[in-house]
Amino acid sequence: MARIVIVSNRVPAGMAGGPQAGGLAVALKDCLKDGGLWLGWSGEIAPTTCADVKIGRFGKIDYATFDLSREDYEKFYVGYSNSTLWPLLHFQPGLVEFDRAYFDAYLSVNRTYARALAALIEPTDLIWVHDYHLIPLASALRAVGVENRIGFFLHIPFVPASLLNLLPRAEKLMHMLCAYDVVGFQTEQHLHDFEDCARHFLNVSADAGAPIVIDNHSVLPIANPIGIDARAFARQAKRSAQGNVAKRLDESMQGRALIIGVDRLDYSKGLPNRFEAFGRLLDRFSEHRLKVSYLQVAARSREDVTENQRLKRELDRRAGEVNGRHAEFDWVPLRYITRAVARATLAGFYRKARVGLVTPLRDGMNLVAKEYVAAQDPDDPGVLVLSRFAGAAEQLTEALIVNPLDPDEIAEALHQALTMPRAERKARHEKLFEKICQTTAATYCHDFLGALMGETSDVVT
Ligand code: ADP
Repeated sequence: MARIVIVSNRVPAGMAGGPQAGGLAVALKDCLKDGGLWLGWSGEIAPTTCADVKIGRFGKIDYATFDLSREDYEKFYVGYSNSTLWPLLHFQPGLVEFDRAYFDAYLSVNRTYARALAALIEPTDLIWVHDYHLIPLASALRAVGVENRIGFFLHIPFVPASLLNLLPRAEKLMHMLCAYDVVGFQTEQHLHDFEDCARHFLNVSADAGAPIVIDNHSVLPIANPIGIDARAFARQAKRSAQGNVAKRLDESMQGRALIIGVDRLDYSKGLPNRFEAFGRLLDRFSEHRLKVSYLQVAARSREDVTENQRLKRELDRRAGEVNGRHAEFDWVPLRYITRAVARATLAGFYRKARVGLVTPLRDGMNLVAKEYVAAQDPDDPGVLVLSRFAGAAEQLTEALIVNPLDPDEIAEALHQALTMPRAERKARHEKLFEKICQTTAATYCHDFLGALMGETSDVVT
């Protein structure tokens, strides 16, 4: 049976006391249940970037990590990954910062990953690379003689050719993506855009669902939506909703309806418009005044990205403005927390919320939308208000789908959600829950590895 080797920018945090379940670790739990190897940056800064890895073993998984130099951290991680690729692939060309030194560092750090990995793998290992930091890794691995099957999954959106065209060296990026054996995307739309880009930049034929052949190499692009273990999350939510923290939330609400938003504090999440929309709900639908509170949990994230610092200041201002305009001495309409909240606590909060408000400007998938659906009480479920530009909207069509750029449309959807009859809420929820049980974390792993193995291998997941 082949070993699974995962490569991602970071390995799951908290290795000193055993790995904590980060988003990716939760999603990949299934394919690593028989063990495997996981390589990534340690999160530490050292005088130089060096491919010498530290190995730790937790449970059945070996974790291999290496440090980055300050300069590589700034140019590879903050620079090319998060100030060039992240905004471009989230349809924010105005925020793209391109610098050749960033691109050079991006290639050079990927070569370090390749050297580190080449020293650790066996010829039969299946290598699964995750996300936009590591697009060049397959080419770098081939350059040092690695012949294993290598797959790549992009967790964030992919863009149409007209947008990718803005990126200097877009053609090279497409070549590097095509050096993999399988390239996975979250949605059919992203897959379609990738195939379009292959035709446009590489001048190859790319038929829907078929491998693309370039330079005698064949790459299979697939759509493979990531999911959660919906039934386990539902059980967790039921338990947490009876716990002490959820009780405190209940008491503080004094019978009011709760709208919840849960995001990393990132400009792709559409938070300023969301705050604006909530203000407009209170302006335009005055029956909700004093009857509803909106809790936004916004964990600070990638604070070295200048745009996220600016966003934090803007949200502080807007939250103050909404509350200044609407609050009463015994009612805070908008509660805004810039910290992470434990996953179990979140599950209980979702279950208490009448509305889940998920309005990113763009998102690869958005797992918060699926978590909110999973957490609901099927007998009295809340309503999901979902951006049409989240990957999840391709599947979750029974949500109230909104354009996140239009605060009035969001306000109207909030009003519809808050006044929706129970029978309609139940009917919508039933279909949504069925869907999130069909594409789970387990099917995500199984389907990707199935594609990576082709027909011939005997790996079991
Ligand atoms: P992204 O990967 O861009 O952060 P997703 O919605 O796909 O967006 O995944 C976010 C994950 O992180 C979810 O599992 C969610 O529960 C968790 N998360 C997001 N914000 C917070 C927060 N403020 N506190 C705790 N967990 C959070």
